[in-house]
Amino acid sequence: MSGYHNAKSDSEEDLYKILGLDRSASADEIRKAYKELSRIHHPDKGGDEEMFKKVNRANEILSDPEKRQTYDVTGSVQEGGGFPGGFPFPFPFGGGGGGFHMNVDINDLFGNMFGGGVKRKVRKSKGNNKTQELPLSLNDFYHGKQIQIELGRQVFCDICHGDGCMNWKTCDTCKGVGVRETMIQMGPGMMAINRGPCTACQGEGRSKGANCTTCDQKGVVSQPKVIEVNVKPGSSAGDILTFEGMCSDEIGYEKPGDLLFRLVEADEDLDVKREGMNLRSKFTLSLSESLLGCKRDVKHHPAHKDGYTFDIPVGIQSGETMRIKGKGMPGPKGPEGPGGSFGDLLVTITVVASESEKKSLETHKAILQSIFM
Ligand SMILES: [Zn+2]
Ligand SMILES: [Zn+2]
Repeated sequence: MSGYHNAKSDSEEDLYKILGLDRSASADEIRKAYKELSRIHHPDKGGDEEMFKKVNRANEILSDPEKRQTYDVTGSVQEGGGFPGGFPFPFPFGGGGGGFHMNVDINDLFGNMFGGGVKRKVRKSKGNNKTQELPLSLNDFYHGKQIQIELGRQVFCDICHGDGCMNWKTCDTCKGVGVRETMIQMGPGMMAINRGPCTACQGEGRSKGANCTTCDQKGVVSQPKVIEVNVKPGSSAGDILTFEGMCSDEIGYEKPGDLLFRLVEADEDLDVKREGMNLRSKFTLSLSESLLGCKRDVKHHPAHKDGYTFDIPVGIQSGETMRIKGKGMPGPKGPEGPGGSFGDLLVTITVVASESEKKSLETHKAILQSIFM
């Protein structure tokens, strides 16, 4: 019997092999394998484009119950469906034999690939979580922020509870059995019975009755909701704030998934940068400023609206880093309460002597020698 599986055309590789699965793979296993492989072979991520196409084609067929069954039986799926010009099946009975007529149940030939019976879709308990980036300024991270966000949520319709219809009726096509048998011409003088899920009701054995007008058959209605995102002082990029069950209701799931906000640093052009709990800034001084000491301003310090002015001591050297205690970010526990603390401000100094300073050194060499020696 194994010979029948060679039915696929030469140009098409075994779709199961492409996804690394065997023929009994569940829909879930197919979905997982596809997700994994399409990520590995994605051309944008340096993958092989040819392989990527194959993986996509394999998934397209194997994730569609109808196409998959056709593929399982025939070894190929022709675009546009159906089998134009006969059955693409190199049957061993053929070859000039005087056309005999027989009915073959494909399911008997290839094992029971389709069990039959009503297959009602079961709602999964919880929808997928969604993560959204929330860009924040240095100021927001320092002081914390309350942000009102309006979610364009969809929730299950109160009237039909997600069905999209007021009632259900028995499927006319399969009379509620969920199974449909069709005759397929397999070759000259030979018919096969193809037993598969009823295409009219997707094997559910029932079809929708009167439309629900409240949700216009969609099963969900729009219900925007405003939530307040509370960013605590001292929060960090990468922190995640979770809002349980705040995603939209989705058909096929009992409950909506969680909505997650991931904090990220907004694009800002500042003279100070965060490094964990510390802040870092850098300044370039002239030679005279470094010798005599001077003042500088961190313009964008988040704790000082008009800038933070600090003293640079006499004789600071190029490459030196000053540490100003407590002028960094609030710690993870926030600025107040037990364990509350701040990081430090780190200022790195570069000293560059100007041309006029160099000239003046030459001119006053004798005086400087008298001072330093
Ligand atoms: Zn409804
Ligand atoms: Zn049906």
